[in-house]
Amino acid sequence: MKKVFGVFGDPIGHSLSPLMHNAAFSALALDCAYHAFRVRPEKLEKAVLGAEAMGFGGVNLTVPLKEKALELDCIEPDPLAKKIGAVNTLVFREEGEGGRKIRGYNTDGLGAKQALLDFAVEIKGSKILIVGAGGAARAIGFRFVEDGAEVIIANRTEKKAIALAGDIAGTMPEGRIRGTGLSGLDTLVREADVLINATTLGMYPNLNTSIVDAGALHPDLAVFDIVYNPLQTKLLKDAEAAGAKAVSGAMMLVYQGAEAFRLWTGIEPPVELMKKTVLEALGT
Ligand code: NAP
Repeated sequence: MKKVFGVFGDPIGHSLSPLMHNAAFSALALDCAYHAFRVRPEKLEKAVLGAEAMGFGGVNLTVPLKEKALELDCIEPDPLAKKIGAVNTLVFREEGEGGRKIRGYNTDGLGAKQALLDFAVEIKGSKILIVGAGGAARAIGFRFVEDGAEVIIANRTEKKAIALAGDIAGTMPEGRIRGTGLSGLDTLVREADVLINATTLGMYPNLNTSIVDAGALHPDLAVFDIVYNPLQTKLLKDAEAAGAKAVSGAMMLVYQGAEAFRLWTGIEPPVELMKKTVLEALGT
């Protein structure tokens, strides 16, 4: 019988995950189907237990459900998801006499890491400046501090950046991390090896906005914009014009999905096909 997978979120109509995962299932001739489901936060528990009861193969969670998942007793987060405070992948698993368990993972940080590794961007020992202190910045911040980067979180609401840096330092006291506001951002960019936009700035329909003045970008910088709609944001255009490496958020989307696919199936996903599918859908 066909195995069903899905992504839960609200809004959810824009999600590229069904296209990407269905292309992967089809290429591997797996009898599986992946759908998008609109689920409101107050219905998350019912939706998760329903999916488990109906024998779903696995579920992704997106905005605004990732943090909510940690409030549910039915989901056991893995240590990293617990630290991050957000779950984006649910795995339904038979576990000995304990019966079925619903495990929660967070693959966003790994997706970001793999997107940078593809462009030969060094993480260990690099100075990484993350702008933004929301859910995505959390996942990326924990991952890169754990991987030995020196991380600065800069955010419009400074106290959120300081709180996030404190949360990360609290679980990784040996890590190098601090939080700050956006004043002095140009100087921080000039001193950074990697700049990551983890805000919503530059996202459709605000195409002509960017987190930083083009003049602060430099050729020794790798610029990673996790916004992928549009594929070529103003920040990425400015980065290319400055001779910096420009890494698209579409690759993070693909790699976080590929990691979820591995967790669900234990099979290596066709990553190149997933990339092609996403890039085509985004209009390249
Ligand atoms: P979020 O939790 O809502 O956080 C939004 C962040 O953007 C906050 O730090 C906020 O600052 C900042 N921000 C918003 N408007 C701003 C402005 N005008 N100037 C400066 N900062 C501003 O969102 P999220 O879930 O972290 O997602 C952030 C972005 O990443 C979204 O565009 C999302 O689509 C994208 N994303 C991409 C992937 C991927 O796979 N590529 C994965 C996850 C998310 P304040 O704290 O001051 O409000």
